[in-house]
Amino acid sequence: MIYQRSSQLFAEAEKVIPGGVNSPVRAFKSVGGTPIFIKEAKGPYLYDEDGNRYIDYINSWGPMILGHAYEPVVNAIVERAKKGTSFGAPTALETEIAALAVSMVPNIDKIRFVNSGTEACMSAVRLARGFTNREKIIKFAGCYHGHSDSFLIQAGSGAVTFGSPNSPGVTQGTAKDTLLATYNDLQNVNDLFTANPNEIAAIIIEPVAGNMGCIPPAEGFLEALRELCDVNGTLLIFDEVMTGFRLAKGGAQELYNVKADIVAFGKVIGGGLPVGAFAARNEIMNYLAPVGPVYQAGTLSGNPLAMAAGLEMLKALNNDAAIFERLEEKTAYLENGIRKILEAKNIGYTINRMGSMISVHFDANPVTDFKSAAKGDNETFKKFFHGLLNEGVYIAPSAYETWFITDALMYDDLDFTLNAIDKVASAL
Ligand code: PMP
Repeated sequence: MIYQRSSQLFAEAEKVIPGGVNSPVRAFKSVGGTPIFIKEAKGPYLYDEDGNRYIDYINSWGPMILGHAYEPVVNAIVERAKKGTSFGAPTALETEIAALAVSMVPNIDKIRFVNSGTEACMSAVRLARGFTNREKIIKFAGCYHGHSDSFLIQAGSGAVTFGSPNSPGVTQGTAKDTLLATYNDLQNVNDLFTANPNEIAAIIIEPVAGNMGCIPPAEGFLEALRELCDVNGTLLIFDEVMTGFRLAKGGAQELYNVKADIVAFGKVIGGGLPVGAFAARNEIMNYLAPVGPVYQAGTLSGNPLAMAAGLEMLKALNNDAAIFERLEEKTAYLENGIRKILEAKNIGYTINRMGSMISVHFDANPVTDFKSAAKGDNETFKKFFHGLLNEGVYIAPSAYETWFITDALMYDDLDFTLNAIDKVASAL
């Protein structure tokens, strides 16, 4: 493939935008080469500025669960835009999407909309601290909850891709309130509670981790965290920015039948516009301003374009009884196909998958936490990534990311992808 125009655009971007990108992983730093610049997208396909077509397995890092330029969402945005794009005052639309979200997700009474997953997680933690009157939180190494200060401690995703899981600029004072645990290691969490009695406001967790590749929780792990939280007066925060409205209508809470105290959302809930949200039962949500003392606000929060897009997306998911089954079947088809290919070629690998979240690690040992995720062979991954890109298959440019499957993918696209993987794997 020819990437001439993308390369030129990247060079121009580098002059005026740090690293040429507005979010680090996009820069292809860990895989080398220059990023492709996207001109447009439709359904499961991306088209770059050089006219190349790709089957998209990033899908804007999750939101485009029904494919790009999904018509009901696009139409809703266009119609709303004609009536004004921001008011900074309440609209009926906000109540409509809030009511629908509350009806789809278990254990929540109220939801507040923000502009990103980062804001959702940051606000969820502030609310948990305010509610419990405690300061410390437990987070898991390799989990990513956005780029707010408390979370940039052994963070996954781009933070680890760029070798700064602990970012300069986060003060010691902030870092000391974030206690680190190992994903899937209950004893470790137990020890933290013992060492910090009555001090832990919340455990925040990706119920299925997606930022060190995909790592599902070990059997009973989420249930055990729930119990530990109950015993210790600690709130359990599920960061469902990736899993929400993707693994099931009600997200991971529904899938695993484990109740969270606060849930953070992003990605799918905005239908591709900048939206995040956090939600909980009344008792907790009523701690928020203007009802309660915990402050949180936003000029563009509940923005009408964003709410219109999110509402159409949630409606589409809510009204389609078979959507999550179809996603499961398509992703299982892909998983089985990749397994066959890599086994036939004797390439060491681990595939983790939960529903339509899947990742390939080039290491034969089980990947259950950050340490085991870091053992993947990055040189093999780089070749795999660039080989696939050249064949017209766009996966995330880092071994620490999850692939997101969209319902717009048809079996022909999956077969095209498997053929490409077969070809690329032969050269690994
Ligand atoms: N939480 C999780 C689990 C995420 O995957 C992400 C982003 N990938 C975030 C929070 C942050 O969301 P945003 O990028 O919208 O700020």
